[in-house]
Amino acid sequence: VKPVPSDIEISKKHKPIHISEIALNAGILESELDPNGSTKAKVKYNKIMERLNKNESKKNGKYVLVAGVTPTSLGEGKSTTTIGLVSSLYAHLDKPCFATVRQPSLGPTFGVKGGAAGGGYSIAIPMEDFNGALTGDIHAVAMGTNLLAAAIDARWFHESTQTDKQLFKRFTPVKKGVRTFSPTMLKRLTKLKIDKTNPEDFSDEEISRFARLDIDPESITWKRVVDCNDRFLREISIGQAATEKGFVRQTGFDIAVASEIMAILALSNDLDDMRNRIGNMIIGNSKAGDPITCEDIGCAGAVTAIMIDAINPNLMQTLEGAPVLVHAGPFANISIGANSVIADRLALRLTGSEKEGEEGYVVTEAGFDFTMGGERFLNIKCRSSGLAPDCVVLVATIRALKSHGGAPEPKAGLALPKAYTEENVEYVEKGCSNLIKHIENIKQYNIPVVVAINKFVTDTENEFAVIKKIALKAGAADCIVSNHWEEGGAGAINLAKGVISACNAPKTAEFKPLYELESTTIAEKIEIIATKMYGAAAVEFSEVAQKKLDLYTRQGFDNLPICIAKTQYSLSHDPKLKGSPTGFTLPIRDIKASVGAGYLYALAGNIQTIPGLPTLCGFHNVEVEDGEIQGLF
Ligand code: ADP
Repeated sequence: VKPVPSDIEISKKHKPIHISEIALNAGILESELDPNGSTKAKVKYNKIMERLNKNESKKNGKYVLVAGVTPTSLGEGKSTTTIGLVSSLYAHLDKPCFATVRQPSLGPTFGVKGGAAGGGYSIAIPMEDFNGALTGDIHAVAMGTNLLAAAIDARWFHESTQTDKQLFKRFTPVKKGVRTFSPTMLKRLTKLKIDKTNPEDFSDEEISRFARLDIDPESITWKRVVDCNDRFLREISIGQAATEKGFVRQTGFDIAVASEIMAILALSNDLDDMRNRIGNMIIGNSKAGDPITCEDIGCAGAVTAIMIDAINPNLMQTLEGAPVLVHAGPFANISIGANSVIADRLALRLTGSEKEGEEGYVVTEAGFDFTMGGERFLNIKCRSSGLAPDCVVLVATIRALKSHGGAPEPKAGLALPKAYTEENVEYVEKGCSNLIKHIENIKQYNIPVVVAINKFVTDTENEFAVIKKIALKAGAADCIVSNHWEEGGAGAINLAKGVISACNAPKTAEFKPLYELESTTIAEKIEIIATKMYGAAAVEFSEVAQKKLDLYTRQGFDNLPICIAKTQYSLSHDPKLKGSPTGFTLPIRDIKASVGAGYLYALAGNIQTIPGLPTLCGFHNVEVEDGEIQGLF
């Protein structure tokens, strides 16, 4: 239908195929499915992998990463392209395939950004489910995070009011006449290298070492979370009730998806790996300055138990019936902004083939532009999984390139300036400096790049022609106009064919990450990303950041990869610098550690970890009429 109706109207008009049929078509057996109604299901990762791994001669499907040029605040259609491309591969080219995407947070859905199920005729359905609570994974992440937060403060409180011996006695209750340690306590004994299991045998020194964590309340970095853009929780004071006897401290909330547990969900390879990572999460320091972990608090087993269902990906479908795995969604401001390793690995096995050249396709997405989201994907996520993409699809729009070429910045909720609704080849050509830089950046990893021009109704052939010429000259394997927003999979057939040929072209070199983990210092890693990816001339570390460099090096975390947190609206740290800026100095204000998830993150600016609500929000459009949700998008 043209003009294209709203996303939610399209979603509602379409009757989804029963999820068990989607599963069967995708090679998932009934016993491996845990349906949640008729349109979504948990898929049992372990069970499926066990079955598929029996066939060792089966090669994985091809792995396609959708990334974008530096966007405007309106978004340039990475999710829409991911869904459109998979719909095309599935419904028009008859290829086994999966889209593997993030689960959106309810905060931005009701706040400023809106949902993330794609757009136009390239959407995952039902949209209300996709952008709603789905099967409760984010709730599990929030529960796990808040349980640990409650455990930390309670521990601080109880340690402050009891002697070491009193604590030890409570930690070793009498069961069937014998004093015993719980399984999590036994794990802590191993960590402390205390080779005893009978509490009666402990010396006073061992009792103190075991029972008292001596948490420095000022150092606690673990925060409570909520999946809502609640700006008034950014800074709060806790422990105000008389029952807490004056144990008051300042803290704050993050949005649920910014929790390290969400990053762990995205990066874990299996349940054991997840359990270890949860145990390794650092919550603060002891008064002596030693890191205290979730394992020390004794909470890692319980948090993993809360996450036991969340570790299984959620199966949904595109408007055209292609399978979609929706799983994990770490907050891109400070984390990797990609879906889970588990969903990708599962989809790659399911689309595998014994015959070379007959493999299917797994299309996934990296948040923000390639140089931020793609870089993190390749250096953090791929390192964690050992997987490497066969091709990058670089989504470009005429509007983003115009904004890089000098057109006034478009703003959500306001009419587009004229430069965007009329042909302007000059702006496009100038803005291609941004496209060129991303293409060059992708090529540094030895991965072929296909530029996808996500077509808007106002775009013109002259504008396309200039992008094509420039993209091919910069080294793109292909540059293809794609009209999947207006036409669904049918509009992306050329793109799908281009992706197939890029994935199957003989490889000239193997994938290589940007930096070595072991042989480079933390500062060198940051400098490599800043200079080779962003175009910076140098990096400047604040005094705080310098102290953290020293601290993390001393603590042995200097071989972790780096996630740089900066604005997504420029290749630099300054959103006003459009195109492909050079010569700037990247300022690093602070460095923090997500040791459990397995990376350090460096802050190049004031990065919010819980968004706020603006005057007019997404939620103002939402209503329930005749028992149906209206106006979610
Ligand atoms: P990203 O994943 O890059 O943030 P999305 O795919 O979420 O971008 O798209 C951002 C918004 O733009 C969505 O509302 C989507 O419906 C809309 N959109 C995407 N592509 C087009 C297009 N070709 N024409 C019109 N609107 C589009």
